[in-house]
Amino acid sequence: MEKIRVELSKNLKAKPTDEGKLGFGEIFTDHMFVMKYTEGQGWHDPAIVPYGPIALDPAAMVLHYGQEVFEGMKAYRAEDGRVLLFRPEENFKRLNASNERLCIPPVDEELLLEGLKQLVNLEKDWIPHTFGTSLYIRPFIICTEAKLGVKAGSEYLYIVILSPSGAYYASGLNPVKIYVESQYVRAVKGGTGMAKTGGNYASSLKAQDIAHEEGYSQVLWLDGVERKYIEEVGAMNVFFKIGGEVITPALVGSILPGITRKSTIEILKSWGVPVSERRISIQEIYEAYQNGQLEEIFGTGTAAVISPVGELKWEDHVMEIGGGKIGELSQKLYDTLTGIQWGKLPDTMGWTQEVK
Ligand SMILES: *Cc1c(COP(=O)(O)O)cnc(C)c1O
Repeated sequence: MEKIRVELSKNLKAKPTDEGKLGFGEIFTDHMFVMKYTEGQGWHDPAIVPYGPIALDPAAMVLHYGQEVFEGMKAYRAEDGRVLLFRPEENFKRLNASNERLCIPPVDEELLLEGLKQLVNLEKDWIPHTFGTSLYIRPFIICTEAKLGVKAGSEYLYIVILSPSGAYYASGLNPVKIYVESQYVRAVKGGTGMAKTGGNYASSLKAQDIAHEEGYSQVLWLDGVERKYIEEVGAMNVFFKIGGEVITPALVGSILPGITRKSTIEILKSWGVPVSERRISIQEIYEAYQNGQLEEIFGTGTAAVISPVGELKWEDHVMEIGGGKIGELSQKLYDTLTGIQWGKLPDTMGWTQEVK
């Protein structure tokens, strides 16, 4: 494995003192991980260097055509002081799947995991202590080649930055209000929906704005062809509990394969809860609601872990779910996942890796 060069910062920043006031992705640690790609040479010069601005040619292709991919994960501090990562190998595997779709050369997953562990270990004093807080990890790749022709680039930069982040739910799990978006779509089959790439987010802002104006916190996305089938909620995967069965949309190409989604399915199976991955329409959800069968809805993702849905608005129909309270299964999943992530529960699935 290539050796990782380390250049330490000479101006260490003051760390935040009030963990109750940490937002999300607002402050960054002292160092970052960088690695370059040059055609003919491949990925080279992995290094941990002081955090700071990067110089880019104004013609850098990422600025014009959006050739970029990213990941999102967390380092958690357990009560006994251990620093844990949750299924990080899955993030690097997905990074390469995104790379493949965006014509970005594949990375060495083992080297990146090793580099991440070294970086997190160096910055471990930045990891907050309160349950629910974490060190958010953002790996990303951008095309840096200076050229305006539309083609896959020949130069890239891989960077990892770290940001101490506050608890997503400062005062317990809160059900959110969701607006079913019937006009704009997030992704289509054959597009880039299964890749974690910035363009998917840029194109989602419009619907998000409208939902906010209407007093809703997130958008429920329908499929891009018929606007009938459920895809995701905001930037999370989505689950429905209907008549005792848990259903989540199947990964058909337009849906991001979430690691929290995968873990949720595996936990439900281990509990013997019936769970299926299939197409599910908004009409079916509405009918289940009318029949009194719609028991719970929740989103899954690294940021919120489990996000219960308390209200769903589809055209003129307002569906109130679980009386606005958190469903029993949503709460149990939240407690189990966060318990494993923050090292409170035994990791019977073998999902955590200690950084030391
Ligand atoms: C990252 C992401 C998710 C959640 O993935 P996790 O691995 O569970 O964090 C879901 N949907 C979209 C669009 C995403 O970008």
